[in-house]
Amino acid sequence: MGEFDLIRRFFTRPTPKAVLGVGDDCALLQSAPGMQTAISTDMLVGGRHFFADTEPQALGHKCLAVNLSDLAACGARPLAFTLALALPEANEAWLAPFAHGLLALADAHGCELIGGDTTRGPLNICITVFGEVPAQRASTRNMPVPTSALLRSGAQAGDDIYVSGTLGDAALALQALLGRVALPPALLAQARQRLERPSPRVALGQALRGVASACADVSDGLVGDLGHILERSGLGAELEVDRVLPLLAARAHYSSGPAQFDQHLGAAWDAQNSQALALQCVLAGGDDYELVFCAAPTERAAVQEAATQSDTPVTRIGTMQAAPGLRLVDGLGRSVAPELASFDHFSAANDRPQGPA
Ligand code: ADP
Ligand code: MG
Repeated sequence: MGEFDLIRRFFTRPTPKAVLGVGDDCALLQSAPGMQTAISTDMLVGGRHFFADTEPQALGHKCLAVNLSDLAACGARPLAFTLALALPEANEAWLAPFAHGLLALADAHGCELIGGDTTRGPLNICITVFGEVPAQRASTRNMPVPTSALLRSGAQAGDDIYVSGTLGDAALALQALLGRVALPPALLAQARQRLERPSPRVALGQALRGVASACADVSDGLVGDLGHILERSGLGAELEVDRVLPLLAARAHYSSGPAQFDQHLGAAWDAQNSQALALQCVLAGGDDYELVFCAAPTERAAVQEAATQSDTPVTRIGTMQAAPGLRLVDGLGRSVAPELASFDHFSAANDRPQGPA
């Protein structure tokens, strides 16, 4: 199968939103009046961002999901994407399920494949997504630029901090797949689903436009990604451990209870403080693709409305503060220091372990 056969068979489809899709030197998009184009690129490299033997259908899903998650974080509506693909060989048995996983998610979000590039090489998948958000004539209260897009930079001291869905299960699955921790099969299956088939929070992101003051997606871990909001907004924050820890779904669903789950993890990893390990998954585990966002306390009802409207649970986990730095506190506001850096399993959240060759 030649390059053009491959493109025609697996990656050419009708593109009703785009003026012109696959087949020419450029694709053409028509921007609607009053709208801005949101653009983001993410590259996934075999053996670095995913195990080389990852099921191709899941991989197709994930490589688009991580891009849609960036659109979600900006509150943008997905329009189209391009796909740059390096493949070791034109293997139909791999391409068919890959394209299926990719295009099923694309269809679910009305995001059209409008072009790309295909070449032989070590497996490498690079997607650029295009979305849209309404422009704004003047920049509002917190926005440094005139846009309705959610930015990392708009948070104010006193804002509530929220996160969508659950956190840390993808990181836990990764540790299990690397053989560092044993999980009961049902829990592993659930956690693995979070690692391999993340659900980008596209509907929530759009519902939060005009409500959230700042937003980011959680791709590298809550602390790191909230850290981007702190840095870009010039603020600090307080996170409540008691609100964050229950977000680890595997812990919440552990049959003999959360405390036993902590012990189980602690024993498996030979940790001094077993609960800190679960906390580590929630705070520093990557690959969740949830949204972390801020909103003024006066917007609490509006945040709940956005959650309901997008059918996405959200949890309030802390408060933005003027003093720089991220503080973890217990239910009584006392500072707790779980010494995040002391576990080398997560020492480089961006640098995921190599998969089997
Ligand atoms: P050019 O050489 O002008 O860059 P190519 O010959 O590489 O164009 O590609 C032919 C057409 O196929 C282009 O429209 C390009 O966008 C599209 N294309 C190439 N690879 C892919 C792919 N993996 N998925 C979707 N479209 C692709
Ligand atoms: Mg080309």
